[in-house]
Amino acid sequence: MTGLTDDIINGFQCSWCEVYFEKEHGYQVVCDHCWQHATNEERKSGVKKAIHAES
Ligand SMILES: [Zn+2]
Repeated sequence: MTGLTDDIINGFQCSWCEVYFEKEHGYQVVCDHCWQHATNEERKSGVKKAIHAES
């Protein structure tokens, strides 16, 4: 267990900084800020960029 919450798994929270979004994505995402600072390796690790705004 890595401590992932249901909100992270459902894409309601950023996987890395845990900021909340206005809507659930339905899959694991990272927020725009985290995505901008992610390495290529991190971007290829399967996580997706959020499309909904942060709340
Ligand atoms: Zn984030």
